[in-house]
Amino acid sequence: MNEILNKPSEKKSNFIREIIDEDLRTNKWNGRVHTRFPPEPNGYLHIGHAKSILLNYGLAKDYNGKFNLRFDDTNPEKEEQEYVDSIVEDVKWLGADFENRILFASDYFDEMYLFAIALIKKEKAYVCDLTAEQIRETRGTLTEPGIESPFRNRSVEENLSLFEQMKNGEFPDGTKTLRAKIDMASPNFNLRDPIMYRILHAHHHRQGDKWKIYPTYDWAHGIEDSIEKITHSICTLEFENHRPLYDWYLEQLEVYHPQQIEFARLNLNYTVMSKRRLLKLVQEKFVDGWDDPRMPTISGFRRRGYTPESIINFTDTIGVAKRDALSDFSLLEFAIRDDLNKKALRVMSVLKPLKVVITNYDGEEDIEAINNPEDITAGTRKLKFSKEIFIEQSDFMEVPVKGYHRLFLGGEVRLRYAYIIKCDEIVKDENDNIIELRCTYEQDTKSGSGTSTKKVKGVIHWISANNCVDAEVRLYDRLFTVENPNAEENWLDFINPNSLEIIENAKIEAGLLSAKFPTNFQFERMGYFCIDSKYSSAKKIVFNRTVSLKDSWTKK
Ligand code: ATP
Ligand code: MG
Repeated sequence: MNEILNKPSEKKSNFIREIIDEDLRTNKWNGRVHTRFPPEPNGYLHIGHAKSILLNYGLAKDYNGKFNLRFDDTNPEKEEQEYVDSIVEDVKWLGADFENRILFASDYFDEMYLFAIALIKKEKAYVCDLTAEQIRETRGTLTEPGIESPFRNRSVEENLSLFEQMKNGEFPDGTKTLRAKIDMASPNFNLRDPIMYRILHAHHHRQGDKWKIYPTYDWAHGIEDSIEKITHSICTLEFENHRPLYDWYLEQLEVYHPQQIEFARLNLNYTVMSKRRLLKLVQEKFVDGWDDPRMPTISGFRRRGYTPESIINFTDTIGVAKRDALSDFSLLEFAIRDDLNKKALRVMSVLKPLKVVITNYDGEEDIEAINNPEDITAGTRKLKFSKEIFIEQSDFMEVPVKGYHRLFLGGEVRLRYAYIIKCDEIVKDENDNIIELRCTYEQDTKSGSGTSTKKVKGVIHWISANNCVDAEVRLYDRLFTVENPNAEENWLDFINPNSLEIIENAKIEAGLLSAKFPTNFQFERMGYFCIDSKYSSAKKIVFNRTVSLKDSWTKK
Protein backbone atom coordinates (compact mmCIF):
# COMPACT_ATOMS: atom_id res chain seq x y z
CA MET A 1 0.00 0.00 0.00
CA ASN A 2 2.80 2.36 0.95
CA GLU A 3 4.28 1.97 -2.45
CA ILE A 4 1.09 2.99 -4.21
CA LEU A 5 0.63 6.00 -1.98
CA ASN A 6 4.15 7.15 -2.65
CA LYS A 7 3.71 7.04 -6.40
CA PRO A 8 0.47 8.85 -7.11
CA SER A 9 1.53 9.50 -10.69
CA GLU A 10 1.62 5.82 -11.54
CA LYS A 11 -2.04 5.11 -12.17
CA LYS A 12 -3.40 1.64 -11.74
CA SER A 13 -5.33 0.51 -14.74
CA ASN A 14 -9.03 -0.13 -14.32
CA PHE A 15 -11.96 -1.21 -16.45
CA ILE A 16 -12.72 2.36 -17.53
CA ARG A 17 -9.16 2.90 -18.74
CA GLU A 18 -9.40 -0.37 -20.61
CA ILE A 19 -12.55 0.86 -22.40
CA ILE A 20 -10.82 4.13 -23.31
CA ASP A 21 -7.69 2.32 -24.54
CA GLU A 22 -9.88 0.20 -26.77
CA ASP A 23 -11.81 3.24 -28.04
CA LEU A 24 -8.53 4.94 -28.90
CA ARG A 25 -7.35 1.84 -30.70
CA THR A 26 -10.52 1.69 -32.81
CA ASN A 27 -10.62 5.48 -33.18
CA LYS A 28 -14.21 5.48 -31.94
CA TRP A 29 -14.19 9.14 -30.89
CA ASN A 30 -11.52 10.34 -33.33
CA GLY A 31 -8.96 10.10 -30.59
CA ARG A 32 -10.89 12.37 -28.24
CA VAL A 33 -11.46 11.89 -24.52
CA HIS A 34 -13.91 14.33 -22.97
CA THR A 35 -15.30 13.73 -19.48
CA ARG A 36 -17.32 15.82 -17.07
CA PHE A 37 -18.38 16.13 -13.46
CA PRO A 38 -22.12 16.91 -13.28
CA PRO A 39 -23.13 17.88 -9.71
CA GLU A 40 -26.59 19.03 -8.80
CA PRO A 41 -26.07 22.30 -6.87
CA ASN A 42 -28.18 21.19 -3.92
CA GLY A 43 -25.49 20.67 -1.31
CA TYR A 44 -21.76 20.78 -0.68
CA LEU A 45 -19.51 18.17 -2.23
CA HIS A 46 -18.34 15.19 -0.19
CA ILE A 47 -15.47 12.74 -0.49
CA GLY A 48 -17.55 10.54 -2.84
CA HIS A 49 -17.81 13.46 -5.24
CA ALA A 50 -14.07 13.94 -4.89
CA LYS A 51 -13.61 10.44 -6.18
CA SER A 52 -15.80 11.15 -9.19
CA ILE A 53 -14.04 14.46 -9.89
CA LEU A 54 -10.58 12.93 -9.65
CA LEU A 55 -11.58 9.96 -11.77
CA ASN A 56 -13.06 12.10 -14.54
CA TYR A 57 -10.36 14.73 -14.43
CA GLY A 58 -7.62 12.09 -14.16
CA LEU A 59 -8.82 10.42 -17.34
CA ALA A 60 -8.98 13.72 -19.22
CA LYS A 61 -5.50 14.64 -18.05
CA ASP A 62 -3.86 11.30 -18.74
CA TYR A 63 -5.38 10.99 -22.22
CA ASN A 64 -4.80 14.65 -23.19
CA GLY A 65 -8.52 15.20 -23.16
CA LYS A 66 -10.92 17.70 -21.67
CA PHE A 67 -12.89 17.87 -18.46
CA ASN A 68 -16.07 19.93 -17.97
CA LEU A 69 -17.61 21.13 -14.75
CA ARG A 70 -21.33 21.09 -15.43
CA PHE A 71 -24.06 21.98 -13.01
CA ASP A 72 -27.03 19.74 -13.40
CA ASP A 73 -29.39 22.48 -12.29
CA THR A 74 -32.68 21.14 -13.58
CA ASN A 75 -34.49 21.15 -10.24
CA PRO A 76 -35.21 24.77 -9.24
CA GLU A 77 -36.56 23.96 -5.82
CA LYS A 78 -33.46 22.82 -3.99
CA GLU A 79 -30.71 24.68 -5.79
CA GLU A 80 -28.82 27.69 -4.59
CA GLN A 81 -25.97 29.95 -5.64
CA GLU A 82 -24.16 29.21 -2.37
CA TYR A 83 -23.84 25.59 -3.48
CA VAL A 84 -22.60 26.56 -6.94
CA ASP A 85 -19.88 28.72 -5.40
CA SER A 86 -18.78 26.08 -2.93
CA ILE A 87 -18.63 23.41 -5.64
CA VAL A 88 -16.44 25.57 -7.90
CA GLU A 89 -14.12 26.24 -4.96
CA ASP A 90 -13.89 22.56 -4.03
CA VAL A 91 -13.24 21.32 -7.57
CA LYS A 92 -10.47 23.92 -7.97
CA TRP A 93 -8.96 23.01 -4.62
CA LEU A 94 -8.70 19.38 -5.69
CA GLY A 95 -6.74 20.63 -8.70
CA ALA A 96 -9.22 19.42 -11.33
CA ASP A 97 -8.74 21.85 -14.20
CA PHE A 98 -11.95 22.56 -16.13
CA GLU A 99 -10.26 25.37 -18.09
CA ASN A 100 -13.05 27.84 -17.32
CA ARG A 101 -15.69 25.48 -18.66
CA ILE A 102 -18.27 26.03 -15.93
CA LEU A 103 -21.42 24.93 -17.69
CA PHE A 104 -25.06 24.87 -16.65
CA ALA A 105 -27.69 22.40 -17.79
CA SER A 106 -30.23 25.21 -17.48
CA ASP A 107 -28.49 26.97 -20.36
CA TYR A 108 -29.70 24.10 -22.55
CA PHE A 109 -33.39 24.44 -21.59
CA ASP A 110 -34.31 25.98 -24.95
CA GLU A 111 -32.61 23.19 -26.84
CA MET A 112 -34.22 20.55 -24.64
CA TYR A 113 -37.60 22.11 -25.32
CA LEU A 114 -37.00 21.90 -29.07
CA PHE A 115 -35.89 18.28 -28.73
CA ALA A 116 -39.13 17.52 -26.89
CA ILE A 117 -41.11 19.03 -29.76
CA ALA A 118 -39.13 16.84 -32.15
CA LEU A 119 -40.16 13.75 -30.17
CA ILE A 120 -43.81 14.83 -30.13
CA LYS A 121 -43.66 15.23 -33.90
CA LYS A 122 -42.25 11.72 -34.19
CA GLU A 123 -45.17 10.50 -32.06
CA LYS A 124 -42.70 9.49 -29.39
CA ALA A 125 -43.98 11.82 -26.67
CA TYR A 126 -47.38 12.91 -25.43
CA VAL A 127 -49.01 15.22 -22.93
CA CYS A 128 -50.61 13.23 -20.13
CA ASP A 129 -53.26 14.52 -17.72
CA LEU A 130 -52.75 11.85 -15.08
CA THR A 131 -51.50 13.10 -11.73
CA ALA A 132 -48.13 11.97 -10.43
CA GLU A 133 -49.92 9.55 -8.16
CA GLN A 134 -52.02 8.08 -10.98
CA ILE A 135 -48.87 7.63 -13.05
CA ARG A 136 -47.26 5.76 -10.20
CA GLU A 137 -50.34 3.60 -9.73
CA THR A 138 -50.49 2.64 -13.40
CA ARG A 139 -46.80 1.79 -13.67
CA GLY A 140 -47.38 -1.91 -13.05
CA THR A 141 -45.17 -4.22 -11.02
CA LEU A 142 -42.18 -6.46 -11.58
CA THR A 143 -44.54 -9.21 -12.78
CA GLU A 144 -47.29 -7.14 -14.40
CA PRO A 145 -47.05 -4.60 -17.19
CA GLY A 146 -48.19 -1.02 -16.61
CA ILE A 147 -51.48 0.37 -17.88
CA GLU A 148 -51.34 2.67 -20.87
CA SER A 149 -52.44 6.23 -20.19
CA PRO A 150 -55.82 7.20 -21.71
CA PHE A 151 -54.00 10.26 -23.13
CA ARG A 152 -51.35 8.19 -24.88
CA ASN A 153 -52.86 8.48 -28.31
CA ARG A 154 -53.46 12.20 -28.53
CA SER A 155 -52.75 13.64 -31.94
CA VAL A 156 -49.47 15.37 -32.68
CA GLU A 157 -51.31 18.69 -33.08
CA GLU A 158 -53.06 18.39 -29.76
CA ASN A 159 -49.83 17.41 -28.03
CA LEU A 160 -47.94 20.32 -29.57
CA SER A 161 -50.59 22.78 -28.55
CA LEU A 162 -50.95 21.44 -24.99
CA PHE A 163 -47.18 21.31 -24.53
CA GLU A 164 -46.90 24.93 -25.59
CA GLN A 165 -49.65 25.88 -23.15
CA MET A 166 -47.78 24.00 -20.43
CA LYS A 167 -44.70 26.01 -21.26
CA ASN A 168 -46.64 29.25 -21.22
CA GLY A 169 -47.85 28.61 -17.70
CA GLU A 170 -51.49 28.07 -18.59
CA PHE A 171 -51.93 25.07 -16.29
CA PRO A 172 -51.40 24.72 -12.56
CA ASP A 173 -48.53 22.68 -11.12
CA GLY A 174 -48.99 18.94 -11.29
CA THR A 175 -51.93 18.87 -13.70
CA LYS A 176 -50.07 17.66 -16.78
CA THR A 177 -46.78 16.08 -17.78
CA LEU A 178 -45.01 15.33 -21.01
CA ARG A 179 -44.23 11.62 -21.22
CA ALA A 180 -42.11 9.59 -23.57
CA LYS A 181 -44.11 7.02 -25.51
CA ILE A 182 -42.01 3.90 -25.13
CA ASP A 183 -43.38 0.67 -23.71
CA MET A 184 -45.65 0.20 -20.70
CA ALA A 185 -44.78 -3.49 -20.68
CA SER A 186 -41.00 -3.07 -20.63
CA PRO A 187 -39.26 -5.15 -17.96
CA ASN A 188 -37.24 -1.99 -17.26
CA PHE A 189 -39.48 0.42 -15.32
CA ASN A 190 -37.52 3.38 -16.62
CA LEU A 191 -38.92 2.68 -20.08
CA ARG A 192 -42.58 2.61 -19.02
CA ASP A 193 -43.50 5.97 -20.53
CA PRO A 194 -41.25 8.06 -18.24
CA ILE A 195 -41.98 11.69 -17.49
CA MET A 196 -39.92 14.20 -19.47
CA TYR A 197 -41.43 17.47 -18.22
CA ARG A 198 -43.48 18.54 -15.24
CA ILE A 199 -45.24 21.83 -14.64
CA LEU A 200 -43.56 23.86 -11.94
CA HIS A 201 -44.11 27.56 -11.35
CA ALA A 202 -40.82 27.94 -9.56
CA HIS A 203 -38.02 30.48 -9.51
CA HIS A 204 -34.79 29.15 -10.98
CA HIS A 205 -31.44 30.40 -9.66
CA ARG A 206 -30.28 31.33 -13.18
CA GLN A 207 -33.38 31.32 -15.35
CA GLY A 208 -35.54 33.35 -13.01
CA ASP A 209 -39.26 32.92 -13.77
CA LYS A 210 -38.82 32.17 -17.45
CA TRP A 211 -39.82 28.52 -17.22
CA LYS A 212 -43.07 27.01 -16.01
CA ILE A 213 -42.02 23.52 -17.02
CA TYR A 214 -38.87 21.73 -15.93
CA PRO A 215 -37.19 18.69 -17.49
CA THR A 216 -36.73 15.56 -15.42
CA TYR A 217 -33.21 14.42 -14.66
CA ASP A 218 -33.48 11.43 -16.97
CA TRP A 219 -34.63 13.48 -19.93
CA ALA A 220 -32.06 16.20 -19.38
CA HIS A 221 -28.99 14.26 -18.47
CA GLY A 222 -28.23 12.43 -21.70
CA ILE A 223 -28.96 15.55 -23.73
CA GLU A 224 -26.48 17.57 -21.65
CA ASP A 225 -23.74 15.04 -22.35
CA SER A 226 -24.69 14.98 -26.01
CA ILE A 227 -24.62 18.77 -26.40
CA GLU A 228 -21.18 18.95 -24.78
CA LYS A 229 -19.87 16.13 -26.98
CA ILE A 230 -18.80 14.12 -23.96
CA THR A 231 -17.14 10.87 -25.01
CA HIS A 232 -17.27 8.85 -21.79
CA SER A 233 -20.17 9.73 -19.53
CA ILE A 234 -19.11 8.22 -16.23
CA CYS A 235 -21.67 7.84 -13.47
CA THR A 236 -22.43 5.68 -10.46
CA LEU A 237 -24.03 2.25 -10.53
CA GLU A 238 -27.57 3.33 -9.70
CA PHE A 239 -27.84 4.74 -13.22
CA GLU A 240 -27.12 1.45 -14.94
CA ASN A 241 -30.86 0.81 -15.31
CA HIS A 242 -31.34 4.27 -16.74
CA ARG A 243 -28.83 3.77 -19.52
CA PRO A 244 -31.38 2.12 -21.90
CA LEU A 245 -33.57 5.20 -21.48
CA TYR A 246 -30.74 7.66 -22.21
CA ASP A 247 -29.84 5.53 -25.22
CA TRP A 248 -33.46 5.54 -26.41
CA TYR A 249 -33.76 9.33 -26.18
CA LEU A 250 -30.53 9.98 -28.08
CA GLU A 251 -31.36 7.40 -30.74
CA GLN A 252 -34.81 8.90 -31.29
CA LEU A 253 -33.34 12.38 -31.50
CA GLU A 254 -30.61 11.15 -33.86
CA VAL A 255 -27.97 13.23 -32.11
CA TYR A 256 -24.41 12.71 -30.88
CA HIS A 257 -24.38 9.78 -28.50
CA PRO A 258 -21.79 9.45 -25.69
CA GLN A 259 -21.06 6.16 -24.00
CA GLN A 260 -22.23 5.83 -20.42
CA ILE A 261 -20.03 3.83 -18.03
CA GLU A 262 -21.02 3.04 -14.46
CA PHE A 263 -18.74 2.54 -11.45
CA ALA A 264 -19.31 1.89 -7.74
CA ARG A 265 -19.88 4.77 -5.34
CA LEU A 266 -17.36 5.52 -2.67
CA ASN A 267 -18.77 4.91 0.79
CA LEU A 268 -16.85 5.59 3.96
CA ASN A 269 -17.47 4.00 7.33
CA TYR A 270 -18.51 5.94 10.43
CA THR A 271 -20.10 8.68 8.38
CA VAL A 272 -23.05 9.36 6.12
CA MET A 273 -22.75 10.43 2.52
CA SER A 274 -26.23 11.17 1.26
CA LYS A 275 -26.73 14.86 0.65
CA ARG A 276 -30.14 14.66 2.28
CA ARG A 277 -28.60 13.37 5.48
CA LEU A 278 -25.70 15.78 5.40
CA LEU A 279 -28.18 18.63 4.96
CA LYS A 280 -30.08 17.41 8.00
CA LEU A 281 -26.91 17.41 10.10
CA VAL A 282 -26.36 21.02 9.07
CA GLN A 283 -29.93 22.27 9.38
CA GLU A 284 -30.53 20.66 12.74
CA LYS A 285 -27.15 21.88 13.98
CA PHE A 286 -25.66 18.53 14.84
CA VAL A 287 -22.58 20.03 13.21
CA ASP A 288 -21.39 23.56 12.72
CA GLY A 289 -22.14 23.99 9.00
CA TRP A 290 -21.23 22.07 5.85
CA ASP A 291 -17.55 22.76 6.49
CA ASP A 292 -17.53 21.42 10.03
CA PRO A 293 -14.26 19.48 10.28
CA ARG A 294 -16.19 16.34 11.24
CA MET A 295 -18.18 16.35 8.01
CA PRO A 296 -17.09 14.10 5.12
CA THR A 297 -17.36 17.14 2.85
CA ILE A 298 -14.45 18.47 0.85
CA SER A 299 -14.82 21.81 2.63
CA GLY A 300 -14.88 20.08 6.01
CA PHE A 301 -11.77 18.08 5.24
CA ARG A 302 -10.05 21.19 3.92
CA ARG A 303 -10.86 23.09 7.10
CA ARG A 304 -9.59 20.17 9.13
CA GLY A 305 -6.22 20.35 7.37
CA TYR A 306 -6.47 17.52 4.85
CA THR A 307 -4.47 18.15 1.68
CA PRO A 308 -5.62 17.59 -1.91
CA GLU A 309 -2.64 15.25 -2.35
CA SER A 310 -3.80 13.00 0.47
CA ILE A 311 -7.32 12.77 -0.98
CA ILE A 312 -5.88 11.98 -4.41
CA ASN A 313 -3.69 9.25 -2.94
CA PHE A 314 -6.62 7.83 -1.03
CA THR A 315 -8.90 7.63 -4.07
CA ASP A 316 -6.07 6.08 -6.10
CA THR A 317 -5.56 3.46 -3.41
CA ILE A 318 -9.17 2.33 -3.34
CA GLY A 319 -9.36 2.31 -7.12
CA VAL A 320 -12.40 2.06 -9.39
CA ALA A 321 -14.76 -0.86 -8.95
CA LYS A 322 -17.99 -2.27 -10.28
CA ARG A 323 -19.30 -3.36 -6.90
CA ASP A 324 -20.35 -1.19 -3.94
CA ALA A 325 -18.21 -1.42 -0.83
CA LEU A 326 -17.60 0.43 2.41
CA SER A 327 -14.14 1.95 2.55
CA ASP A 328 -12.25 2.28 5.76
CA PHE A 329 -11.78 5.76 7.19
CA SER A 330 -8.40 4.61 8.48
CA LEU A 331 -7.21 4.29 4.87
CA LEU A 332 -8.00 7.94 4.33
CA GLU A 333 -6.21 8.85 7.55
CA PHE A 334 -3.24 6.75 6.52
CA ALA A 335 -3.00 8.81 3.34
CA ILE A 336 -3.20 12.07 5.32
CA ARG A 337 -0.45 11.02 7.72
CA ASP A 338 1.71 9.81 4.88
CA ASP A 339 1.47 13.18 3.16
CA LEU A 340 1.78 15.37 6.25
CA ASN A 341 4.71 13.39 7.61
CA LYS A 342 6.71 14.71 4.67
CA LYS A 343 5.40 18.27 4.77
CA ALA A 344 4.42 19.34 8.25
CA LEU A 345 6.77 21.37 10.41
CA ARG A 346 7.25 19.94 13.89
CA VAL A 347 6.49 22.16 16.84
CA MET A 348 6.21 21.65 20.57
CA SER A 349 2.81 22.40 21.93
CA VAL A 350 1.31 21.23 25.16
CA LEU A 351 -2.39 20.54 24.99
CA LYS A 352 -3.17 19.98 28.67
CA PRO A 353 -0.39 21.78 30.51
CA LEU A 354 1.15 20.93 33.85
CA LYS A 355 3.63 23.47 35.24
CA VAL A 356 7.13 22.28 36.06
CA VAL A 357 9.57 24.42 38.03
CA ILE A 358 13.20 23.44 37.60
CA THR A 359 14.50 24.51 40.96
CA ASN A 360 18.22 24.33 40.16
CA TYR A 361 18.03 26.22 36.86
CA ASP A 362 18.31 29.98 36.44
CA GLY A 363 18.32 32.20 33.41
CA GLU A 364 17.47 31.13 29.92
CA GLU A 365 19.12 29.43 26.96
CA ASP A 366 18.42 28.53 23.36
CA ILE A 367 17.86 24.90 22.46
CA GLU A 368 18.12 23.83 18.85
CA ALA A 369 15.20 21.83 17.47
CA ILE A 370 14.76 20.11 14.11
CA ASN A 371 11.84 21.41 12.04
CA ASN A 372 11.23 18.24 10.08
CA PRO A 373 13.32 15.09 10.38
CA GLU A 374 11.80 13.92 7.07
CA ASP A 375 12.99 17.02 5.27
CA ILE A 376 16.41 18.32 6.21
CA THR A 377 15.93 21.45 4.08
CA ALA A 378 13.28 22.59 6.58
CA GLY A 379 16.18 23.45 8.91
CA THR A 380 16.18 24.06 12.64
CA ARG A 381 14.77 26.61 15.07
CA LYS A 382 15.62 27.85 18.53
CA LEU A 383 13.49 26.97 21.51
CA LYS A 384 13.85 28.83 24.78
CA PHE A 385 14.63 26.81 27.84
CA SER A 386 13.98 28.34 31.24
CA LYS A 387 13.17 27.68 34.88
CA GLU A 388 9.46 27.26 34.27
CA ILE A 389 8.17 24.94 31.63
CA PHE A 390 4.95 23.10 30.84
CA ILE A 391 4.63 19.41 30.15
CA GLU A 392 1.58 17.36 29.21
CA GLN A 393 -0.51 16.33 32.25
CA SER A 394 -0.60 12.82 30.86
CA ASP A 395 3.20 12.66 30.97
CA PHE A 396 3.13 12.54 34.76
CA MET A 397 1.70 9.89 37.06
CA GLU A 398 1.64 10.26 40.78
CA VAL A 399 1.52 6.51 41.18
CA PRO A 400 3.15 5.07 38.07
CA VAL A 401 1.69 1.95 36.57
CA LYS A 402 4.07 -0.84 35.68
CA GLY A 403 6.11 -0.03 32.59
CA TYR A 404 5.43 3.72 32.80
CA HIS A 405 8.51 5.45 31.39
CA ARG A 406 7.54 9.04 31.75
CA LEU A 407 7.66 11.26 34.83
CA PHE A 408 6.69 10.28 38.37
CA LEU A 409 7.83 11.27 41.82
CA GLY A 410 11.48 10.32 42.10
CA GLY A 411 11.56 9.34 38.43
CA GLU A 412 13.52 10.77 35.54
CA VAL A 413 12.63 11.69 32.00
CA ARG A 414 14.33 13.44 29.08
CA LEU A 415 12.92 16.69 27.81
CA ARG A 416 13.15 16.45 24.03
CA TYR A 417 16.24 18.28 22.67
CA ALA A 418 17.15 19.36 26.23
CA TYR A 419 17.99 17.86 29.63
CA ILE A 420 17.09 14.96 31.82
CA ILE A 421 15.00 16.09 34.77
CA LYS A 422 14.01 14.39 37.98
CA CYS A 423 10.78 14.99 39.86
CA ASP A 424 11.41 15.88 43.51
CA GLU A 425 8.09 17.21 44.72
CA ILE A 426 4.40 17.46 43.83
CA VAL A 427 2.47 20.64 44.64
CA LYS A 428 -1.28 20.28 45.08
CA ASP A 429 -4.14 22.71 45.60
CA GLU A 430 -6.69 22.49 48.41
CA ASN A 431 -8.74 20.00 46.36
CA ASP A 432 -5.83 17.63 45.99
CA ASN A 433 -5.28 18.47 42.31
CA ILE A 434 -1.70 18.47 41.13
CA ILE A 435 -0.88 22.03 40.06
CA GLU A 436 2.88 21.98 39.83
CA LEU A 437 5.90 19.73 39.86
CA ARG A 438 9.26 20.68 41.33
CA CYS A 439 12.13 19.10 39.48
CA THR A 440 15.90 19.31 39.12
CA TYR A 441 17.86 19.05 35.90
CA GLU A 442 21.21 17.44 35.25
CA GLN A 443 23.49 19.89 33.52
CA ASP A 444 25.70 17.52 31.53
CA THR A 445 22.79 15.61 29.96
CA LYS A 446 21.92 18.19 27.34
CA SER A 447 21.02 16.56 24.01
CA GLY A 448 23.80 16.87 21.49
CA SER A 449 26.34 18.62 23.71
CA GLY A 450 26.18 17.07 27.16
CA THR A 451 28.99 14.85 28.43
CA SER A 452 26.87 12.43 30.38
CA THR A 453 26.19 9.01 28.93
CA LYS A 454 23.13 8.59 31.11
CA LYS A 455 20.11 7.10 29.37
CA VAL A 456 16.47 7.23 30.35
CA LYS A 457 13.59 5.44 28.68
CA GLY A 458 11.10 8.28 28.44
CA VAL A 459 11.37 11.36 26.21
CA ILE A 460 8.63 13.95 26.46
CA HIS A 461 7.78 17.26 24.81
CA TRP A 462 7.67 20.51 26.74
CA ILE A 463 7.37 24.23 26.24
CA SER A 464 8.98 27.11 28.07
CA ALA A 465 6.51 29.19 30.10
CA ASN A 466 8.00 32.45 28.88
CA ASN A 467 7.97 31.49 25.22
CA CYS A 468 4.47 30.23 24.59
CA VAL A 469 1.00 31.55 23.92
CA ASP A 470 -2.46 30.26 24.75
CA ALA A 471 -4.54 28.64 22.06
CA GLU A 472 -7.80 26.80 21.71
CA VAL A 473 -7.36 23.33 20.31
CA ARG A 474 -10.13 21.21 18.87
CA LEU A 475 -9.84 17.45 18.79
CA TYR A 476 -12.17 15.35 16.67
CA ASP A 477 -13.41 11.84 16.81
CA ARG A 478 -15.59 9.92 14.38
CA LEU A 479 -19.03 11.47 13.89
CA PHE A 480 -20.98 8.24 14.37
CA THR A 481 -20.64 5.39 16.81
CA VAL A 482 -21.58 2.66 14.34
CA GLU A 483 -19.63 1.56 11.32
CA ASN A 484 -22.42 2.00 8.80
CA PRO A 485 -24.90 4.68 9.90
CA ASN A 486 -26.19 4.74 6.29
CA ALA A 487 -27.90 1.46 6.96
CA GLU A 488 -29.72 2.72 10.06
CA GLU A 489 -33.17 4.17 9.81
CA ASN A 490 -32.70 6.05 13.10
CA TRP A 491 -29.23 7.09 12.06
CA LEU A 492 -29.33 10.29 14.14
CA ASP A 493 -29.43 8.15 17.27
CA PHE A 494 -25.91 7.01 16.47
CA ILE A 495 -24.22 10.39 16.46
CA ASN A 496 -21.12 10.29 18.64
CA PRO A 497 -21.74 12.76 21.51
CA ASN A 498 -17.97 13.06 22.00
CA SER A 499 -16.96 13.80 18.44
CA LEU A 500 -15.60 17.23 19.39
CA GLU A 501 -13.39 18.06 22.36
CA ILE A 502 -12.47 21.69 22.87
CA ILE A 503 -9.36 22.46 24.89
CA GLU A 504 -9.39 26.10 25.87
CA ASN A 505 -5.92 26.74 27.20
CA ALA A 506 -3.34 24.79 25.33
CA LYS A 507 0.18 26.22 25.22
CA ILE A 508 1.69 26.55 21.79
CA GLU A 509 5.09 27.74 20.60
CA ALA A 510 5.07 31.53 20.34
CA GLY A 511 6.27 31.22 16.75
CA LEU A 512 2.86 29.85 15.81
CA LEU A 513 1.31 33.28 16.36
CA SER A 514 2.06 34.01 12.71
CA ALA A 515 0.78 30.66 11.43
CA LYS A 516 -1.59 30.88 8.50
CA PHE A 517 -4.19 28.49 7.16
CA PRO A 518 -3.61 26.02 5.46
CA THR A 519 -0.06 25.38 6.74
CA ASN A 520 0.09 22.01 8.47
CA PHE A 521 2.04 21.40 11.66
CA GLN A 522 2.89 18.38 13.66
CA PHE A 523 2.54 19.07 17.39
CA GLU A 524 5.18 16.60 18.52
CA ARG A 525 3.57 13.42 19.87
CA MET A 526 0.04 14.93 19.66
CA GLY A 527 -0.81 14.74 15.97
CA TYR A 528 -1.11 16.99 12.93
CA PHE A 529 -2.82 20.34 13.32
CA CYS A 530 -3.71 23.45 11.36
CA ILE A 531 -5.22 26.83 12.11
CA ASP A 532 -9.00 26.84 12.04
CA SER A 533 -9.94 29.14 9.18
CA LYS A 534 -13.33 29.98 10.68
CA TYR A 535 -12.77 30.75 14.35
CA SER A 536 -9.16 31.87 14.54
CA SER A 537 -8.85 35.62 15.00
CA ALA A 538 -6.40 38.24 16.20
CA LYS A 539 -7.80 37.68 19.70
CA LYS A 540 -7.85 33.93 19.79
CA ILE A 541 -5.86 31.28 17.96
CA VAL A 542 -7.78 28.10 17.24
CA PHE A 543 -6.18 24.92 15.97
CA ASN A 544 -7.90 21.85 14.58
CA ARG A 545 -6.38 18.44 14.92
CA THR A 546 -6.25 17.02 11.42
CA VAL A 547 -5.35 13.52 12.50
CA SER A 548 -3.66 11.89 15.44
CA LEU A 549 -0.27 10.28 14.98
CA LYS A 550 -1.49 6.79 15.61
CA ASP A 551 -4.33 5.09 13.88
CA SER A 552 -7.14 5.49 16.36
CA TRP A 553 -9.75 4.20 13.93
CA THR A 554 -8.80 0.58 13.71
CA LYS A 555 -11.18 -1.45 15.80
CA LYS A 556 -10.17 -1.49 19.39
P1 ATP B 1 -28.22 13.05 -4.75
O1 ATP B 1 -28.55 12.17 -5.93
O2 ATP B 1 -28.49 12.49 -3.39
O3 ATP B 1 -28.57 14.48 -4.90
P2 ATP B 1 -25.50 12.74 -5.57
O4 ATP B 1 -24.46 12.57 -4.54
O5 ATP B 1 -25.77 11.70 -6.57
O6 ATP B 1 -26.69 13.09 -4.69
P3 ATP B 1 -24.90 14.62 -7.66
O7 ATP B 1 -24.75 16.07 -7.51
O8 ATP B 1 -25.91 14.11 -8.60
O9 ATP B 1 -25.23 14.10 -6.26
O10 ATP B 1 -23.50 13.95 -7.95
C1 ATP B 1 -22.65 14.41 -8.95
C2 ATP B 1 -21.77 13.31 -9.44
O11 ATP B 1 -21.05 12.72 -8.39
C3 ATP B 1 -22.58 12.21 -10.09
O12 ATP B 1 -21.96 11.87 -11.30
C4 ATP B 1 -22.52 11.09 -9.11
O13 ATP B 1 -22.59 9.87 -9.75
C5 ATP B 1 -21.18 11.32 -8.42
N1 ATP B 1 -21.20 10.81 -7.06
C6 ATP B 1 -22.09 11.14 -6.10
N2 ATP B 1 -21.85 10.45 -4.98
C7 ATP B 1 -20.77 9.66 -5.22
C8 ATP B 1 -20.02 8.71 -4.45
N3 ATP B 1 -20.35 8.43 -3.19
N4 ATP B 1 -18.98 8.10 -5.04
C9 ATP B 1 -18.65 8.39 -6.30
N5 ATP B 1 -19.29 9.26 -7.09
C10 ATP B 1 -20.35 9.90 -6.56
MG1 MG C 1 -27.41 12.36 -8.12
